[in-house]
Amino acid sequence: MSENSYQEITDDQKAIIEMVHQFVDEQIIPNAEHFDAKDEFPEDIVEQMKELGLFGAMIPEEYGGMGLDLSTYELIVEELSRGWISISGVINTHFIGAYLLDKFGNDEQKQKYLPKMATGEMRAAFSLSEPEVGSDVQGIKTGAKKGDDGKYEINGQKMWVTNGLGSSLVFLLVKTDNDASPAYKGMTCFITEKEPWVGENTGEYAGLTVPPKIKKMGYKGVESTELVYDGYKCPAENILGGEEAGLDKGFGQMMDALEVGRVNVAARGVGIAQRALELALKYSQERKTFGKPIAQHQAIQFKLADMATKLEAARLVTRKAARMKDAGIRSDLEAGMAKLIASETGKEVVEDCFRIHGGYGYSKEYEIERLYRDAPLLLIGEGTSEIQRMVIGKKLLERNKI
Ligand SMILES: Cc1cc2nc3c(=O)[nH]c(=O)nc-3n(C[C@H](O)[C@H](O)[C@H](O)COP(=O)(O)OP(=O)(O)OC[C@H]3O[C@@H](n4cnc5c(N)ncnc54)[C@H](O)[C@@H]3O)c2cc1C
Repeated sequence: MSENSYQEITDDQKAIIEMVHQFVDEQIIPNAEHFDAKDEFPEDIVEQMKELGLFGAMIPEEYGGMGLDLSTYELIVEELSRGWISISGVINTHFIGAYLLDKFGNDEQKQKYLPKMATGEMRAAFSLSEPEVGSDVQGIKTGAKKGDDGKYEINGQKMWVTNGLGSSLVFLLVKTDNDASPAYKGMTCFITEKEPWVGENTGEYAGLTVPPKIKKMGYKGVESTELVYDGYKCPAENILGGEEAGLDKGFGQMMDALEVGRVNVAARGVGIAQRALELALKYSQERKTFGKPIAQHQAIQFKLADMATKLEAARLVTRKAARMKDAGIRSDLEAGMAKLIASETGKEVVEDCFRIHGGYGYSKEYEIERLYRDAPLLLIGEGTSEIQRMVIGKKLLERNKI
């Protein structure tokens, strides 16, 4: 964590963050290059994260989790993303699934899944996007229909599912009423179970296929996949919140989860920008041109100044959004602002660090090359910058109606 930023954190938060910071320095940063180059799932690192209890970070203690608030979780994600954003990707969708269960799940669902999720024995994915639909969530086509056996048959194709192969649970948004107007009133969130790391599910999970992972420019190690539901049978009790409470309520549930998800992506932007600043500060004091370290050229110092200033602003907005959510204050506007400023800052600070590295920034021998491929994802996931501006604009007008 940057020493010179004004920190309003509690002693408990400080202890957790110091632990995660050390873990990142010792286990993630030295190994990220290996897993990135091979696009290999970082199994060893994930096992250690399970031991540290990170998969249960926000899961209540009664279900075996740490029961942390969003503000503390946000600090953890900053740290993990300083190491490698793919690592935060492994727990991001899991965190959203746990949030959905904790907030909207019924007692049976919580008892059944949260203890295993807290240990990381079961990992979760969440799936809205489809090949033809991302931003316009109400346009999804995947549907579920109740059969005579009382189960819902799910058919359709999902896209860009982070942890799509290794997860055991997918929080899946589908259409349950095609005639609903507006469309969001006919959408339901199902908790679909699957075999982790299995492409072709069989037995009780038959009808769910996971095609080979999508090849990406960055964000390696954590898999992004399609999911093909073709006659997959899901029991009615796996509707989030139960059939009575949850049928046709999925859109609102998912949008609520996306709000905390946006704070989480903002934290990733802060984390990757923090790492880029650290690398730039180091390199610019080592590299000499025209007889002095490049950090002594005013143009480079100004770049460093802008990087640190933007980072600090993004960090403060992100932490404010998390604190507001914890305090139960409406924070949709702030979460959108945090996601927008922190993801754009992540990309800009990484690009400045890349420029400061000159030609070496283009070499795979320097960490910044990976950050440069990783950072753009944050502009897209959990709603693009254009979508954030739409959210911010709409909420601003709602709050300031004349
Ligand atoms: C690596 C990766 C991991 C992902 N993980 C997940 C996941 O786990 N689960 C999941 O459900 N999804 C996931 N996504 C999908 C992601 O949420 C979508 O890609 C994103 O929401 C954008 O949707 P799209 O790609 O369909 O773009 P589109 O919606 O087609 O948008 C294309 C462009 O048009 C712009 N645009 C769209 N509508 C408007 C408008 N009304 N006004 C102005 N501009 C507009 C967009 O901002 C964008 O620039 C992931 C994506 C990636 C790349």
